[in-house]
Amino acid sequence: MNNFSYTRAHSLDEAIQTIGNNTKFIAGGTNLLDLMKYNIEKAGLLVDINPIDSLRKIEPLPGGGIRLGALVTNAATAYHPLVEERYPLLSKAILAGASAQIRNMATNGGNLLQRTRCYYFYDPNTPCNKREPGSGCSAIGGYNRIMAVLGASLSCIAVFPSDMCVALAALDAVVNVSAPDGDRCLAFADFHRLPGDTPHMDNNLRPGEIITSIDIPEKGFPKNYSYLKIRDRNSYAFALVSVATGFELESGIIREARIALGGVAHMPWRVLEAEEFLKGKPATDMYFSEAADIIMRGAAGFEHNNFKIKLARRAIIRNCTMALHPETQVPGAQPSA
Ligand SMILES: Cc1cc2nc3c(=O)[nH]c(=O)nc-3n(C[C@H](O)[C@H](O)[C@H](O)COP(=O)(O)OP(=O)(O)OC[C@H]3O[C@@H](n4cnc5c(N)ncnc54)[C@H](O)[C@@H]3O)c2cc1C
Ligand code: SF4
Repeated sequence: MNNFSYTRAHSLDEAIQTIGNNTKFIAGGTNLLDLMKYNIEKAGLLVDINPIDSLRKIEPLPGGGIRLGALVTNAATAYHPLVEERYPLLSKAILAGASAQIRNMATNGGNLLQRTRCYYFYDPNTPCNKREPGSGCSAIGGYNRIMAVLGASLSCIAVFPSDMCVALAALDAVVNVSAPDGDRCLAFADFHRLPGDTPHMDNNLRPGEIITSIDIPEKGFPKNYSYLKIRDRNSYAFALVSVATGFELESGIIREARIALGGVAHMPWRVLEAEEFLKGKPATDMYFSEAADIIMRGAAGFEHNNFKIKLARRAIIRNCTMALHPETQVPGAQPSA
């Protein structure tokens, strides 16, 4: 681990002023500290943003949506009454992640920026284009059971491991960021990136930008939603495949559909064509199955992860069916895979 300086920022302005070439913000530290211990992140200056109270709020937005402060913990977000009532899909996705202790520390901003769990990324003795651009990808031709089946490239086949972000993608969230040259908002679909030939870049945040909050529009699908996470253990494990679904139904006909996948790509995976296809159709297995085919079009495995293609297809169909019965969404309980 390299030597580094540490400071605490007490306001957003103070945090922004500290931004330099080798600065890293630290929030809950649940990912960053591990990365520093592995010598993967080598910050020269660590800026602790925890004292910035203005980033630790959840508040309703005038248009009917909600704003989640970047420093609100994952646990406080999942159990917030407004989130539970209006965005139970988000509560459910957060509670499917990590452990109670980690969710108590992990923050919303940090969740968006957590790094992949590819085994080779964490092993500095192996080539990895994400850790060391140009060195190669050990997962292609290596052990790749947890890797991507959609949107991968010959440079990187890693997946983005967040649960929370799968729900945020389905809910059309917007990420608010600040930097020395001003503020901007990024649609969730534009926040994370596919690996292409620059897999070291996980997202479109510019150097020095700080996430201040995440906005979710009014539509939360509280009547018909479901989050299904399929993993090797029933708790404290990352998703092999996860699916977030929200429906607006009228007499059994789908008026609006949202389906996002986790564990299958370098970013939460959403295919608008499949959601359009479902509009106006009866909410039945037959149409869910056709939508799943559209979502999984072009999927390709790398040997040990071939199973994910069928698994994801079945998970989509099953989760759409579960969204018709949201009473199956008991917080903390996951149906067995
Ligand atoms: C054992 C274990 C199991 C886990 N299981 C799951 C799981 O099943 N599902 C899941 O979704 N997650 C899981 N996680 C990941 C966990 O959710 C993330 O580590 C956490 O959300 C990161 O938040 P943090 O506040 O601790 O971020 P930190 O570790 O503090 O920071 C992470 C990154 O974000 C940057 N950062 C933080 N806040 C900001 C901000 N406001 N603006 C700009 N940059 C910022 C930091 O500089 C750093 O690069 C697991 C983690 C562990 C350790
Ligand atoms: S899949 Fe990506 S993160 Fe994993 S070894 Fe290859 S380049 Fe590195």
